Amino acid sequence: MTRSSNQQVVLAARPDGELKLTDLRLEDVATPTPAAGEVLLETVYLSIDPYMRWWMRAEKSYNDPIEIDQVIVGATVARVRESRHPDWQVGDWVLAFSGWTRFAMSDGSGLRRLDPALAPPSTALGVLGMTGFTAYAGLRNIGKPKPGETVVVAAASGAVGSMVGQIARLRGARAVGITTGAHKLAYLKEELHFDAVADYNAPDFAERLAKACPGGIDVYFESVGGKIWDAVLPLLNTYARVPVCGVISQYEKPSGAQEHQDRLAHTMAQIMGKSLTLRGFIQTEYAERQMGDFLQEAGQWIADGQLKYREQITQGLETAPQALIDQLKGRNFGKTIVQVSEP
Ligand code: NDP
Repeated sequence: MTRSSNQQVVLAARPDGELKLTDLRLEDVATPTPAAGEVLLETVYLSIDPYMRWWMRAEKSYNDPIEIDQVIVGATVARVRESRHPDWQVGDWVLAFSGWTRFAMSDGSGLRRLDPALAPPSTALGVLGMTGFTAYAGLRNIGKPKPGETVVVAAASGAVGSMVGQIARLRGARAVGITTGAHKLAYLKEELHFDAVADYNAPDFAERLAKACPGGIDVYFESVGGKIWDAVLPLLNTYARVPVCGVISQYEKPSGAQEHQDRLAHTMAQIMGKSLTLRGFIQTEYAERQMGDFLQEAGQWIADGQLKYREQITQGLETAPQALIDQLKGRNFGKTIVQVSEP
């Protein structure tokens, strides 16, 4: 291949509060050359996920923090461009965790082979990837919705939330989605057929949510925290289950301020990050045992037209910082992906 120069995005400064473009730095670096047993990957699609902001915090949670000058971590769909590894051929599509870089080296560990004939490769980051699996695993292992029960999910139009509501309905439950903005509310009702929706920016949000859940809430899939949790808590039924998947409203709170501003959500962040009771979880806990089931079931649902998904793809690695900022501000709509290179 013609060796083009590599680009990567690193953490330039540790954000305190809201992430800024200046906290991240795009830099040109040399493209590595594979040694024996290695492959050179070129990122085609990069997944943008809220946990990236969480890992920029100084304190350790379920993972080590990203260090200053370290390449931002992240899942990628990539192609093998050079191979000195017996199991991998030039042109192979893989799911990797190579981060915000155009070219990356791999010794093959942790790579998953993708078949572009089965599904568009970008779906390995979303509906048939980590975010889809998060919804599936949280419901299967913790939420356990029964037919007729009410499942409420926040960030409901997003990559995880949209799957939670649809899977809940496929299991025979009622799905209630919390989001904001006319286009997202309409998408949930009209395209994904949620049973009810509630706008968390409406002044009477708590009353609207109560109205949307006349029989109370049996499963609350927590992804946001803060005022949404405050409105959900009084509506939870006896024996309600709460898979604590994330607390995105807290990720940009300065470390010192968290405790005082919102003790409850801070507690839930701990529950999530450390998988304490109630029950916090990180999807990796279930991936090895249940990813196969998920891919089979979700693949079938997509083929049958029962599971819909939406991707928002921006072009060029240089768009990744703004894409993450937009996601943390709720300006994304669907699974957020950056296309880094042509397939
Ligand atoms: P999304 O695609 O849902 O994007 C994030 C959404 O969160 C935004 O679109 C916005 O939706 C909402 N949001 C952002 N900021 C706020 C805020 N301050 N208050 C309320 N809502 C906000 O992201 P994902 O689906 O990838 O992730 C959703 C959640 O799941 C996150 O908390 C993430 O950390 C968590 N997660 C956890 C995993 C685990 O293993 N535990 C794995 C994957 C994700 P809206 O416009 O509706 O407000």
